Amino acid sequence: MLDEIPLSKPVIDEADIRAVTDVLRSGRLALGPMQERFEHTIASITGRRHAVAVSAGTAGLHAVLVAMGIGPGDEVVTPTFSFVASANSICMAGAKPVFVDIEPKSLNADPEKIEAAITPRTKAILAVECFGNPEHMDTYRRIADKHEIKLIEDACEGLGGRLNGEPIGSFGHAAVFGFYPNKQITTGEGGMIVTDDDHLADRCRSLRNQGRATQADANRQDSAGAGALGSGWMAFERLGYNYRLNEMSAALGVTQAARLPELKERRQEIADQYTQRLLDNTDIILPNVSGNVGMSWFVFVVRLASTYTSAERDRIIGGMHRHDVGAAPYFPCIHLQKHYRDHYGYSEGDFPVAESVSQRTLALPFYPGLTKRDLDFVVGTLELMLSRENLTRRD
Ligand SMILES: *Cc1c(COP(=O)(O)O)cnc(C)c1O
Repeated sequence: MLDEIPLSKPVIDEADIRAVTDVLRSGRLALGPMQERFEHTIASITGRRHAVAVSAGTAGLHAVLVAMGIGPGDEVVTPTFSFVASANSICMAGAKPVFVDIEPKSLNADPEKIEAAITPRTKAILAVECFGNPEHMDTYRRIADKHEIKLIEDACEGLGGRLNGEPIGSFGHAAVFGFYPNKQITTGEGGMIVTDDDHLADRCRSLRNQGRATQADANRQDSAGAGALGSGWMAFERLGYNYRLNEMSAALGVTQAARLPELKERRQEIADQYTQRLLDNTDIILPNVSGNVGMSWFVFVVRLASTYTSAERDRIIGGMHRHDVGAAPYFPCIHLQKHYRDHYGYSEGDFPVAESVSQRTLALPFYPGLTKRDLDFVVGTLELMLSRENLTRRD
């Protein structure tokens, strides 16, 4: 059930509704012109040669890993403090996720720990712009280049952000965005792969469409005298998936992306308001953004002071829900989720920084439609819950 003031809420305007109904009226619901328009839009925002629209961020990450030839026997280094999809995509490809701890300021993977985790079996670093913060992406790129492995950006939380002026999505050999309704822009469900690598883009296009032969496959076969795409549309060159994005979603993506600058600005305003309201509260640790970072705020996550336990944090979240205010623990560490404990033997204590942070995080309601009154109510409720915890402690 949705709280009165939920954690997130998409902004759908009349232009969005018109774009989707136009597609419905056109009768062309899949594999039409909107997919390509949306791809051009995201390629231009990120400054990349290619964009490949897919049905979800997770699907995009999986397709990129497979397109890079990463699979059984390979290792991929990734932070444990992220949404579970980051590591799930590595398992889906049949490779082994090797977790690393985070650096507590940006909450992104600690570059030194990444370097220490690289072995001869490591094929890629799958790095995450946690909550929309791209700090260290340039360092990850240098580490990947030095070890001649790939850098994949899980940019699902970061569309529109920058580091030293460079857009999120431009650091990795490939980057993947997600458009679930809580992201900066939404297509309902959807994702986008971006890359400058012609071959990789071609592979991803084939993989999203059942492994269908692409023009590059046809050209290769022509030059080998193999008779090109003899069976044309029904030629399948490799095992693929159905990761296509439908036309309604793609059309929504085009109109949403056109408003990205204003949506981003509005999110910045709300982040600033939260910061002002909570600055003097010694029970709260605020997000800490470096000067060279242009945040694209995905969520607004505060941390309780280190004197708080995870049980106290969870009680505070429960209390906020009872006042109809959304709140959530972002994120539980991935290495402590059942699949990763059971299959890779991870346990408590493996990554102390991420574990300590994740026990005390609290995501607050955060979306462009959040009014000043809503925000006052959220902060008031949070302060009430904190004072209750402090009273209980004294008893
Ligand atoms: C949202 C998200 C994804 C992808 O989500 P989908 O629901 O598959 O689109 C992947 N990684 C991170 C870090 C995310 O936040």
